Amino acid sequence: MSQGSQTFQIAGVDALQLCREYDTPLYVYDTAKMESQYKRLKKAFKGSKHKINYACKALSNVNVLRFFKQLGSGLDTVSIQEVELGLKAGFDPADIIYTPNGVSIDEIKKAVELGVRINIDNLSILEQFGGLYGGDYPVCIRMNPHIMAGGNVKISVGHIDSKFGISIHQTRHLERLVKSLNIKVEGLHMHTGSDILDVDVFLKGADLLLEVARDFPDLQYIDFGSGFKVAYKPNDISTDIEELGQKMTKMFNTFCKEYGRELEIEFEPGKFLVSEAGYFFCKVNVIKQTTATVFAGVDTGMNHLIRPMFYDAYHHIENISNTNGRKRVYTVVGYICETDTFASDRQINEINEGDILCFHNAGAYCFTMANNYNSRYKPAEVLVHKGKAHLITQRQTLDDILRNQVEIEL
Ligand SMILES: *Cc1c(COP(=O)(O)O)cnc(C)c1O
Repeated sequence: MSQGSQTFQIAGVDALQLCREYDTPLYVYDTAKMESQYKRLKKAFKGSKHKINYACKALSNVNVLRFFKQLGSGLDTVSIQEVELGLKAGFDPADIIYTPNGVSIDEIKKAVELGVRINIDNLSILEQFGGLYGGDYPVCIRMNPHIMAGGNVKISVGHIDSKFGISIHQTRHLERLVKSLNIKVEGLHMHTGSDILDVDVFLKGADLLLEVARDFPDLQYIDFGSGFKVAYKPNDISTDIEELGQKMTKMFNTFCKEYGRELEIEFEPGKFLVSEAGYFFCKVNVIKQTTATVFAGVDTGMNHLIRPMFYDAYHHIENISNTNGRKRVYTVVGYICETDTFASDRQINEINEGDILCFHNAGAYCFTMANNYNSRYKPAEVLVHKGKAHLITQRQTLDDILRNQVEIEL
């Protein structure tokens, strides 16, 4: 390892020490950062009755779920398995909202049995649901306001070609179903994408949704989804949550006055709450100079962190073994037998073989999207809480790879 380094710390815990203790690749999360983001959001919306439901697909370790429960958060889930995980983490069913897309009525029935709040996103399932439960089980309806938003087409879910939600142009049809089947609509919902920077885009969507809300007299809450953009590099821009909070609470409170009742404003952020709380550490196996570039080959790949390859996502990378070294240009690549480039032409403090690199913003959609491609093990996860590091997921072993395989006579 290189000399002359300052130690890289996560809430007072030395990261290089963690890498020695738990080996690399390694995910590390900081509860203090999750808490400060949660509190920042609460503060921005303090002018309205509000509730935050952590979107657990971003980072679904049961300890993280428990931590958000302790903070007072609800839970946003997108599969029946996430619902079950939330219940296991101790959430009250009433604090879990289930927002699936394209699931069968059987999965919805299961959610009814478990007693969680249900968000329905198409007229066909709503009709079946109404036939089964009528007004006995209130629902939330996911609307699609058709606004183009989000950092990447795969994560833009509110536009005209999107599979998500019931079009606001189908409101008339929706109303007919609700009325004739006596369905009790307790909530309206929208979620238009991820990495939305512009406050006005949110406000535009909110305005459209509130327009629809006038036609539904039984509402308890309106869920404005999520998609807040976070900073990905030093001095990067992010959604101005404070400005959004101020403008949106004003708009919402005006609406509630006209509606005649105080409703609750809800959000379901994933990335905003956990992205910056996560760090991913890997070791440089090889420095390879070619005629075109200098590759830093690391002991991980797209199997552990797929966002750069899948979404063209930017993850800031630091060499924590040589924090004072001079900057040189590298292409950081994984070890998967496929092109898995984490970063091209990136200036990083001089890298030597054996150095530890840190990927920032590794809290959201990193471990939860990890897989066993190339029969590699998923990494361990560590949670730093109140100045102490805790192992919360063990590194896999060959037994895990073979766990569900059934060996037959051949
Ligand atoms: C993914 C998702 C979220 C969270 O989005 P972020 O960009 O991580 O905040 C919220 N709600 C629904 C319905 C989702 O599918």
